[in-house]
Amino acid sequence: MIYLDNAASTKPCAECIRAVNEAMENTFANASSLHKAGTASLMLISRARAAVIGGMSLNKTSQLSGEVIFTSGATESNNTALSGINLRGGKIVTTAIEHPSQARVIDKLEKLGHEVIRLAPKDNEDFEGAIADAVDEKTALVSCMAVNNETGFCVDVRKLYKAVKAKNPKTLFHTDAVQGFLKVPLDGDLISISGHKVHATKGIGALFVRKGITISPLLSGGGQQKNLRSGTEPVELIAGLEAAINAYEYKIEHFDRLKAYLIEGLSEIPDIRLNSDNRCLPNIVNFSVRGVRSEIMLHALEEADICVSSGSACSKGKTSGVLSAFGVSDKDADCAVRVSMCADNTEQEIRLLCEKIAQTAKNIRR
Ligand code: PMP
Repeated sequence: MIYLDNAASTKPCAECIRAVNEAMENTFANASSLHKAGTASLMLISRARAAVIGGMSLNKTSQLSGEVIFTSGATESNNTALSGINLRGGKIVTTAIEHPSQARVIDKLEKLGHEVIRLAPKDNEDFEGAIADAVDEKTALVSCMAVNNETGFCVDVRKLYKAVKAKNPKTLFHTDAVQGFLKVPLDGDLISISGHKVHATKGIGALFVRKGITISPLLSGGGQQKNLRSGTEPVELIAGLEAAINAYEYKIEHFDRLKAYLIEGLSEIPDIRLNSDNRCLPNIVNFSVRGVRSEIMLHALEEADICVSSGSACSKGKTSGVLSAFGVSDKDADCAVRVSMCADNTEQEIRLLCEKIAQTAKNIRR
């Protein structure tokens, strides 16, 4: 199988599998238990928290200071962050390219009466500047993803965080960093990440909460994780996440090479529109094969044992509203293919992908 759908989910790495197995065998006790075995689980969790913080800062410059709450994934992290903060009736500045796990919560807040400003990259060449410009004294929250899951579009959240705080130090800054975690340095008051996008397992995610920021929990119960997320901590999955973080290496040159190779291959096929520009991380490439609907292309590739996605795995069957915020027409969005790579992918795989796309385009357009 040629797996090119890593933005949807990644294969757990050997280090993760080993750590999960090891924890299941040896570190399985409830982290709230007061005995030695419980303490071992607690220590593992605390080590994993440090790994998450280190990963967010990419071990560069100053480390973030605050709490890490383990969640079931980024959907829960985004919901916890956005429903848990006290907005005091203030305005929200966000973008038109967010994942549904963020966007639907913002929609709810809008229905509750918050004014929401949504900015699109197609209207703002300087995206970070435009977001910061939209902040005023009434802005309670800015929520902006670090890397878009459909195109790879990258926002400099460290720069944006500083610009937002300069405009209004009281404005909270949340970022959905699922596709940026371990790839770009992050900053924010609230940062959401997910394990299964970085070669850990599904069912584990995290939310960073900067020191001094209070949120009310989504879940009530036994008061675990400083009462920010009740429920027995899944120590096995946390062990897997820690191991995956420690093993992860973002080889940008490898992705630059594969992206260039892919674009070269696509350039030989007539009527292709590239939907990922040079502001995008190279591991995600979105393009439209005009005249061939995504569904048809996906099935043709599947026959050749090649896995890719149309726009986003989370907006199954729907034309992506997100692509239109990048200036992609509905017609082109209907024919969009997303190729998302990991360190294991090769030029040979990209060549086979291009050959199959060329063949399918020829057959369908005939
Ligand atoms: N945000 C983004 C940008 C994503 O790509 C995803 C996964 N598709 C999520 C949030 C949701 O993450 P999870 O699957 O861990 O709930």
